[in-house]
Amino acid sequence: MEEEVAVIGAGTAGLIAARELGRAGIRALVYDQKKVLGHPVRASGIVSLRGLDSLGVDYRKAVTNTLYGARLHAGKSTMRIESGTPVAHVLERQRLNELCREQAERAGATVITQRRITPERLDTINRGGSIIIGADGAVSTVAAHFRMGPLADYVITYKAEFHVRLDDARNVDLFFDREYRGLFGWLCPNSDEILEAGIGVRHGRMNARRAFDRFMERREVAEAVGNARMHSGQASIIPMRLRRRIVDEKRKVLLVGDAAGQVKPSTGGGIVFGGNGAIMAARAIQGHLERGKSLMEYETSYKKRFAADTRVHSMINKLYTRSGTKGMELGIRIMNAIGMASLLGKYGDMDSPTKTMMNVFSGKQRVTE
Ligand SMILES: Cc1cc2nc3c(=O)[nH]c(=O)nc-3n(C[C@H](O)[C@H](O)[C@H](O)COP(=O)(O)OP(=O)(O)OC[C@H]3O[C@@H](n4cnc5c(N)ncnc54)[C@H](O)[C@@H]3O)c2cc1C
Repeated sequence: MEEEVAVIGAGTAGLIAARELGRAGIRALVYDQKKVLGHPVRASGIVSLRGLDSLGVDYRKAVTNTLYGARLHAGKSTMRIESGTPVAHVLERQRLNELCREQAERAGATVITQRRITPERLDTINRGGSIIIGADGAVSTVAAHFRMGPLADYVITYKAEFHVRLDDARNVDLFFDREYRGLFGWLCPNSDEILEAGIGVRHGRMNARRAFDRFMERREVAEAVGNARMHSGQASIIPMRLRRRIVDEKRKVLLVGDAAGQVKPSTGGGIVFGGNGAIMAARAIQGHLERGKSLMEYETSYKKRFAADTRVHSMINKLYTRSGTKGMELGIRIMNAIGMASLLGKYGDMDSPTKTMMNVFSGKQRVTE
């Protein structure tokens, strides 16, 4: 079958791009190497309500829990950012993928599984004149083959689940410690019976599995997990920086999602940034095919919308990574003293620090469902 656009990778970003292309009447073929999309689940699924709305995915059937806030821990300090209303949903990732696939297919896209795209196949697609979307994750064959810049900065993660009965399934706990430098350790109630524990460490710093085992020895973590047996342990990778180029105009190649590095470096969350990147890429392709517009419009519009927020997310990551445990402990004490937790609870926007600042200054409280 001849495609106008070949989407490599059927994660959320690739499938959202294919859905948008299908709705615009553009023939999109999505290839994925996996037999069962989204399996095994290597990532978590905490997504802000506002971010979810921006993706246009009917995600409700994938929701396993709703979060109202977060507790940040460093040394002996804790900051509780709690909101009276829902802030984020926890999504079952494989189910989310299925829902995205259903939407893409309903829009007219074709999804082909168990098809690994090799560099040779990319050359063939390229010679055939099709546009290529690289949605093939952090270790992107498309980005490497078309030399779109290295994966300059990334963290290695390890996470697992535990069956426990949770009294409080409304908050996620984040642990800052120099041991898991690069990101943090987390305990997330995926439901009121499943607790997920995970860590992210900057590459080259420490073996992720070792850092995870040490995390599990922490008093708070050991108490939360008790004697529950660990299952679904998975290592993975999160890109922490946008690639040097996300468009190759001449060869008609665009990168979206983790392949592009569309992640917020403060938390490693990429579903919202990557999904919005995918929507923008599809719009640029539509403009190119219908009106001869430059594909670079995608890179320009993505940076216009997300560059400022990404910079602030990056600064937050640097701040907690470089502060070490003692620095973060002091930082949390200072933030508690100036009432930061209550400000964030009222005005915070998980995805957009710039919007958070605007909300604080204008006195506009976060609106949720
Ligand atoms: C531990 C962890 C926790 C996370 N927690 C969150 C969170 O709470 N909230 C959030 O928003 N984000 C989170 N993220 C990030 C989020 O998971 C990613 O940003 C998101 O999954 C990226 O989607 P994607 O579609 O770009 O890539 P992927 O989901 O990686 O999909 C890429 C697809 O491409 C396919 N593929 C790869 N190479 C080829 C090839 N050569 N040929 C064919 N197919 C190929 C793969 O099989 C895969 O299906 C987390 C990540 C990790 C690792």
